[in-house]
Amino acid sequence: MIPVKIFCACGQKYAFEVEPVNGAMPVAVNCPVCNRDGTESANQVLAKILKGKTQPLPPPSVNTLLNAVESSLAPHLIEALKDAVVQELAAQRRELLAGQQAAAAELTELARRLEAVQTPMFERLRAYEERIAELEKDLASQSKENRELLKMKIGMLREKLEAERTGGRSVNFN
Ligand SMILES: [Zn+2]
Repeated sequence: MIPVKIFCACGQKYAFEVEPVNGAMPVAVNCPVCNRDGTESANQVLAKILKGKTQPLPPPSVNTLLNAVESSLAPHLIEALKDAVVQELAAQRRELLAGQQAAAAELTELARRLEAVQTPMFERLRAYEERIAELEKDLASQSKENRELLKMKIGMLREKLEAERTGGRSVNFN
């Protein structure tokens, strides 16, 4: 059942619920005051509602959502919504941190492998530079979160590279 509200040309508002047939009114409706035919208006209302149901909008960003509801919601609801957003951001941050730890582990492993095989210094430097170049190539095609992660990886590699160049043996990635 779909609720339909009609604002008749005579000024009367009337509302009813209807089970549409093929997206339209199954019977004619008339204004209870002036008896004007409201079927066409009702069909327009139904078309609008049904279109909204079959073509849901893409999920809005949290900021769009907040801006949209801020004017229409009670303050305590806005606060609850902001809490939910903060929690969502905290969850994303946790994912990023997990990603950072994985990145640090990957780089530590790269450094360990290079050192374990007594790779000459210039080859180690080249390996780091190649990895940096690969990561920078990836950077353009990534989502925002992944870009941050990649930038961080590149930053860590550059630190490692610099440390090797200046003669430091080991850099703690953590
Ligand atoms: Zn009327």
